[in-house]
Amino acid sequence: MSHKQVHVINHPMVQHKLTSMREKGTKTGEFRSLLREISMFLGYEVLRDIPMTTRRIETPMAEMDAPVMAGRNMAFISIMRAGQGILDGMLRLIPSAPVGHIGLYRDPRTLVAVEYYFKVPKDIQEREAIVLDPMLATGHSAVAALDRLKEAKPKSIKFLSLLCSPEGIDYFHEYHPDVPIFTAAVDQKLNEKGYIVPGLGDAGDRLFGTA
Ligand code: URA
Repeated sequence: MSHKQVHVINHPMVQHKLTSMREKGTKTGEFRSLLREISMFLGYEVLRDIPMTTRRIETPMAEMDAPVMAGRNMAFISIMRAGQGILDGMLRLIPSAPVGHIGLYRDPRTLVAVEYYFKVPKDIQEREAIVLDPMLATGHSAVAALDRLKEAKPKSIKFLSLLCSPEGIDYFHEYHPDVPIFTAAVDQKLNEKGYIVPGLGDAGDRLFGTA
């Protein structure tokens, strides 16, 4: 089993798009498109070792057993509401993947995560869960989401986040050392309000235009 892994996807395409997302002048429509595009690149890495099988096909030249992704092997789990932005990109990669949702909000005073919604695919025990949450900040909501998700017993779990704080990674791996993190960047720090610095501000507000 993997142990305290953090995969930083520092491909030029990812880093360039992330810089555009960080800029405060980037408007909702563009922010949304960038998150969808960047999520496809991050998803490409997360899915690198998914189970494969073969299918007998005919090319114009010959028959062959060609590689295809094995069925029933994963589920995307979106942490609402900003997870929806990553989900959009992931579903472009695998349109047929079942999707679970975990609804949590951060109590602004205590920064503790409070659950208001939980629904995952019925056959989650046969699937690898890929949890989507753009900002791993304090880590409180991610840890709460994984605590709940583990009760549903997916085969394995990976966590996909656009940006992380070092504090969030430490907190996350204190409780879930077995869950690898895939991210575009690890930023400098958390501020006193639990925001990532330099970060990109409130991902949900920027994605949905609610600032
Ligand atoms: N959530 C966000 O959207 N941004 C942060 O910086 C921290 C948490």
